Amino acid sequence: MAGGAYESTNKFLQDGFDTLGLAPKTEHMLKTPAREVKVELVITMDDESVGNFIGYRVQHDNARGPFKGGLRYDESVNRNEVQSLASLMSWKTALIDVPYGGAKGGISVNPRELSTSEKERLTRRFVETTHQFIGPTTDIPAPDMNTDGQVMAWLFDEYSNFHGFEPAVVTGKPVDVHGSVGRDAATGRGCLFALRDVLNHDGHELADTEIAIQGFGNVGSWAARLLDDHGAVVTAVSDITGGYYDPTGLDIPAVYEHVAAEGDLKTFDDATEITNDELLTLDCDVVMPAAIGHVLTEENADDVQADYVLEGANGPTTYPAHQILTDRGVTCIPDIFANAGGVTVSYFEWAQNIQHFSWSESEINQRLEERFIDAHDALRDTMDRYDVPMRTAAFVNAIERVRRATEMRGLQ
Ligand code: NAD
Repeated sequence: MAGGAYESTNKFLQDGFDTLGLAPKTEHMLKTPAREVKVELVITMDDESVGNFIGYRVQHDNARGPFKGGLRYDESVNRNEVQSLASLMSWKTALIDVPYGGAKGGISVNPRELSTSEKERLTRRFVETTHQFIGPTTDIPAPDMNTDGQVMAWLFDEYSNFHGFEPAVVTGKPVDVHGSVGRDAATGRGCLFALRDVLNHDGHELADTEIAIQGFGNVGSWAARLLDDHGAVVTAVSDITGGYYDPTGLDIPAVYEHVAAEGDLKTFDDATEITNDELLTLDCDVVMPAAIGHVLTEENADDVQADYVLEGANGPTTYPAHQILTDRGVTCIPDIFANAGGVTVSYFEWAQNIQHFSWSESEINQRLEERFIDAHDALRDTMDRYDVPMRTAAFVNAIERVRRATEMRGLQ
């Protein structure tokens, strides 16, 4: 696929390589995945029919530590996209400086058509077919689109059936089964820190900043609530059922309660209905894609009215769209920085599991904030040094860390 997600990610990566002037051999090593696993998952459905699904685990790079990355259940899951997402994880873990490499997994399935027990059987079958490739010092999955703490708990349980009690094999677990306080909110909280520091650098404040958020799942709903708590005005939210807009600001606690009770935004009627596409081009200060990839493209990048794109989702902006936005003076706060809060607190969860010791929520949040402040400062230095946009600076900082680890370990 010439124009797929993986090719798009590689173009962003190439901008980083070009800025640094790396040798072609080093570029090749850093670009391509280390291992790809594709599995057939056959389960018995509730009506006794046979369900047949394809699962992937792509392990991109482990020079800095075990492979690490989420597991996604969605109809859109395909090898090309998982390759892209695995690569992004290598750069994200390096940028935010947690001792991991990058991986990603997924199952091509419509999770809304599965019962809870079918989802559990599918998760356990995925672990049966991949358990020899994952582990607390090998590859540590986590939640992503349409997977949550419950799915992680099944994964932990099934892995332990093969290898003995091993909570550190997966992060994003519920707190009752060795998860970490603060993990659920972590990606949204990281987005808050990233946006705050970028706005402050430009002489703006979070308070009264108008934000439109696409996606109201883990990332979008936590970001909405935290941004609302900090005085930002969330004017639009959306989910797979569509978008909901109020130019004076939505009542975010009410939106959250509605989704908690109803499961989605469909019947939320205290706002004007808009489409997911319309949300991205609303007149606001910040637009935050927090759902699927490649929603900002050359088709709509010229119509974006926001001054900032806060990438809660992975890979929401195509390479040409990024160029258009940058040329127009729109700041893209790139995914590998903006949404790195999840993997950061996943690292804290893993560290707690390995020590069999828990940290307090205030300690977790404080350590998370420190990582974001440090990463933002380092981004500014690189942006000034090379005169590049924030996304290229993010890749430059991440590539440098992975390259150094690769060379020092003699992996070349
Ligand atoms: P989620 O499953 O909790 O929520 C996804 C949301 O997107 C839901 O509101 C869903 O209705 C909506 N959605 C799905 N398809 C859509 C479509 N076609 N158009 C508009 N909305 C749609 O997922 P999540 O964990 O919040 O992940 C969202 C994004 O953030 C993904 O790109 C994921 O890779 C990324 N991300 C997640 C984490 C994490 O910790 N969960 C960390 C980093 C990045």
